Amino acid sequence: MVTYGKFLYLLIISITFSASMNAMSACRNYQVSGHVKYFDSEMGKLLPIKGAKVKISGKIEPWWWGPWGTVTTSSSGYFSINTGKSCVARKLRVQVKLDSSTLQLRTTQNTAQFFTVFETPSATSSSDFRSLRLYFGVDSWHGGLSIPGKSTTTNSINNLNSNNNEVHAALWAYTRSAIDYIGAFEQKVFVYYPYDFDYDCEDNTDNCEPNGAVFYSSKHKIRVSHKFDNTKMKAFRGTVLHELGHVYYFEHVTTQSNICGTDIDRHAQGICPSISFNEGFAQYFSDNLVNILYGNDLYYGPDLILPKNRYRLYNDGNISDLSDLERGDFGVKSTLKLITLDNLYGYTFSTYDGSSYFYAEPFHSKFLSCPTIAKVSFRDILGALDPIANSSFDHQWDERDSSNGLFNFIDRLKAIRSSFNTNDVNFYLQFHDVSLSSEPHDYCSTNIKAIYKLSK
Ligand SMILES: [Zn+2]
Repeated sequence: MVTYGKFLYLLIISITFSASMNAMSACRNYQVSGHVKYFDSEMGKLLPIKGAKVKISGKIEPWWWGPWGTVTTSSSGYFSINTGKSCVARKLRVQVKLDSSTLQLRTTQNTAQFFTVFETPSATSSSDFRSLRLYFGVDSWHGGLSIPGKSTTTNSINNLNSNNNEVHAALWAYTRSAIDYIGAFEQKVFVYYPYDFDYDCEDNTDNCEPNGAVFYSSKHKIRVSHKFDNTKMKAFRGTVLHELGHVYYFEHVTTQSNICGTDIDRHAQGICPSISFNEGFAQYFSDNLVNILYGNDLYYGPDLILPKNRYRLYNDGNISDLSDLERGDFGVKSTLKLITLDNLYGYTFSTYDGSSYFYAEPFHSKFLSCPTIAKVSFRDILGALDPIANSSFDHQWDERDSSNGLFNFIDRLKAIRSSFNTNDVNFYLQFHDVSLSSEPHDYCSTNIKAIYKLSK
């Protein structure tokens, strides 16, 4: 008890002392601000690290670091803190943690940690640290870390270009933007990198795509293999957003299913419709988000959100009749793209095999008068996994029923959009029927068809 009393007494003295020190002798106003960004070498541009935590601390030698505050980066990656301190020279430290209420980046540890991105080499009397550039993934020419008016320091404190840090920044930039856009995740998402899979990945089988990296998601956790590194950024965006699609899916379905077995190639044709739908949905989700957030995809090309043409459905997807569409993710994702396609009449779905087109081919026509066709949206696709009010679908999508594939899902879409009926569905599906040759513009009454085929 005596010890406790003394401790309390000292504590009061100490608080009073430090408060009066601040009030009486704050002679410097430290201004610390800047941007945290990730340089995406594939896109050739900087992406903001938004919604991350930045912690600023000061230190009077030889004492310990004292936190000056923790702020959250804005949508442009900007952070700023101003604080008054005494005249004593201090060291300054800036730390970043990739953590927010919706997303957290983790290493092998089960938590996220602050790591130092900037620290003055010695105590400084300078108080102006505005316009710091804390850029992950840039080469030395761009300057990973720069302080205006002072000598540029590249990677001298913490290597912002090291594999772990660069991949973490990329994962944050992609995933956080997608979560913000979707805005409907119920729980915080955790992304692990580097993750050491106990997986048969050594022989570089298909399971290890892309480029020897394994991504795996379950519930709210996405795991990215240590085999993935910052030399393999191509296709990375699409793959991590595919996994995020699974996270969204798992949040909105009754349960994850092993009904078709656990040791299966989930992307193969003919597994079972519910697994094919899960995979096709995840890829549709990813392709749309890449297109919405970045406008194109450097790995798969700018036609990412287009459905396949009949030639590719048959030759690449092994789809020989409409029922095959739900027997593999290939047919599922293409059909989801077909029914959400803007300007259906602007495309052809030919069986022509001389073209290098993988997708529905742009068809530019003039003076066409075409029937109005109902369509559904990306948001409708997302929403149809949930219970649908005033319908027979008053429960979530249930993957435990192996027959719950593409066509059962389309029935739910019809319940969401009453204007989208069986006739509309059949109208769309004919363009994925490889036994037919009809084209959307065949239904347009027209006097003039001026056709311009874009070469690719
Ligand atoms: Zn998948």
